Amino acid sequence: MVDRCPSCHGADTSLLVPQKNNYSFVECNDCCLIFVDPMPSDETLNAFYDNYHKSAQYLSKLDSKIRRAKKRIRSVNWFKKPGKFIDVGCNVGFAVEAARLLGFDANGIDIDANAIEVAKEQFSQANFSVRSVQDLAECGEKFDFIYCSEVIEHLPELESFFAALVKCLTKDGLLYITTPDNGHFSLPNEFSKLVDWTSIRPPEHLMYFTKSSVAPLLSRHGLNSVKIPFSFKPTLKIIAKVKG
Ligand SMILES: [Zn+2]
Repeated sequence: MVDRCPSCHGADTSLLVPQKNNYSFVECNDCCLIFVDPMPSDETLNAFYDNYHKSAQYLSKLDSKIRRAKKRIRSVNWFKKPGKFIDVGCNVGFAVEAARLLGFDANGIDIDANAIEVAKEQFSQANFSVRSVQDLAECGEKFDFIYCSEVIEHLPELESFFAALVKCLTKDGLLYITTPDNGHFSLPNEFSKLVDWTSIRPPEHLMYFTKSSVAPLLSRHGLNSVKIPFSFKPTLKIIAKVKG
């Protein structure tokens, strides 16, 4: 069992019904984060991701993905000059290429070696490496724009990941995170109906955030959410900075 809520660290949780894919879910009674409990073991997750061929899927419609990422990055960074950019969990690298085209020093990291190989072939002018953000933080390199899209819901543990993100961010740097929004107006409130939503898919997705349940996590790591823009789709887009 997870003994504390991964976002607010509260200990008061309720078991939700039903299960999905043989995984149980609990909801934190303080911040309302929903998460898988117990979390799958590292062995289970490694076996799952060994068979995970998402890279191939991500290679489709690359041009429109680059275009969309350019629009996103430009809208977040509109008042600033393009500086050092990194996509944490960059997959095949389309957001890194988008940042490069916008004039950033563009970098991407992913722990999926296959995805990085494809990224290097596709976008030879950007910088890619197979590494975790925890490893990167050890080097002391800092970035003006950290992009981290559809990553946090996959992680069984967020403490070291967020600590590393913050360590890699410059004082005025922007952290841009996206994750599915299970509090979105288009989705049902009752878990018995919400569970059918395609984004609820353990062991691929393990934590399910809303605007309020992500707030304690950001705050504990010394981050202020500058803006959570309205979205017609159930995706939480968070723009955060280090509290100054
Ligand atoms: Zn909580």
